[in-house]
Amino acid sequence: MKKEFLLAPGPSQVPAETLLEMAKPVFHHRTKRFQNIFAEVQEGLKYVFQTKNPVLVFASSGTGAMEGSVSSVLSPGDKAITVTGGKFGQRWKNLCKAFGAEAIELTVEWGKSVDPETIKDLLQQHKDVKAVYVTLVETSTGTLADIRKIGEIVKDTGAILVVDAVSGLGADKLLTDEWNVDIAVAGSQKALMLPPGLAFAAVSEKAWKAIENAKTSNFYFNYKKAKASLDKNDTAFTPAVTLIIGLKKSLDMIKEETIEKVWKRHADNAASMRSAVEAIGLKLFSSNPANAVTAVVLPEGVDGLAFVKKIRDEYGVTMAGGQDHVKGKIFRVAQMGYANQFDTVVASSAVEMVLSELGYKFDKGSATKAAVAELIKRGVK
Ligand SMILES: *Cc1c(COP(=O)(O)O)cnc(C)c1O
Repeated sequence: MKKEFLLAPGPSQVPAETLLEMAKPVFHHRTKRFQNIFAEVQEGLKYVFQTKNPVLVFASSGTGAMEGSVSSVLSPGDKAITVTGGKFGQRWKNLCKAFGAEAIELTVEWGKSVDPETIKDLLQQHKDVKAVYVTLVETSTGTLADIRKIGEIVKDTGAILVVDAVSGLGADKLLTDEWNVDIAVAGSQKALMLPPGLAFAAVSEKAWKAIENAKTSNFYFNYKKAKASLDKNDTAFTPAVTLIIGLKKSLDMIKEETIEKVWKRHADNAASMRSAVEAIGLKLFSSNPANAVTAVVLPEGVDGLAFVKKIRDEYGVTMAGGQDHVKGKIFRVAQMGYANQFDTVVASSAVEMVLSELGYKFDKGSATKAAVAELIKRGVK
């Protein structure tokens, strides 16, 4: 019998409570019934984002909200700084290109966090930069960025700070307003305990001014249009009714746990996962690891593609491999969303079993032992 464990960095596990809500019959969205739910969802989103500003909701994957934060903010020819330290950072540059903006790309070695001072230097060299695009958790490398520091730098300039928090929101700490983040974007299928299909954007007053002044030619991901509808507690187009109903349930669960405890749960599980792999001589890929996802360097001689395939197809535990130049060299295991301490234990034991099968020599059981010991040390219940 094979039981499935979804421990990939998106899509991630969805609680049964949320799935059951989404199994109910669909109803019409231009109704008081939907509006009441949508209003509650709005409050829940503000809480998770830690913002007082409205949070736009789109029926799309996370990239839709990213696209809107470029196409609604930048006019053709505008300059923007984009930080690339992995696959998702690259997306910012590609989006700028797609909309005719000039991306000044700050490249960071994969697995390293951007040094906020380098952003400061670039902003001083280019006074006409309209926006700075960064990633809270670079999912391809499992790396966390220091958004608070970057926010302090960008806030006193004419530029706005846009953060891709698609995988980070609800896993790694993000204080959107306090950290001076002007646009934070997220998606439903990472740490928000939902299937794929919703994208979000929390937008500040400063960002709205930039949006007002932009000469844009977008349509579906037009932030202004989305905001005009949101002001009437509505959406510009047909909302993903079923996902919004599920979202209400998942947001209620986060609220009940409290966001601080949600962050702590991710921190505990990530620490447990890290000690597991380190206990059997594996190295972390990131020098500043995020809590949402752990990227691990596979030992020399172990076929990384076989590892990911085997652990999923034969053991039922889905993790992700590496992308681009680290393909076959790392694996990524998520702690995001609906995951608790026992998911970490499952992950550790599955990693041991597969590595053992692939010929790696280590003290059997020591990764799982370290994972459990770390959880006990942290008093996780
Ligand atoms: C998953 C993810 C995205 C969005 O990807 P979609 O497939 O469009 O949902 C963007 N940024 C990061 C960091 C992600 O992890």
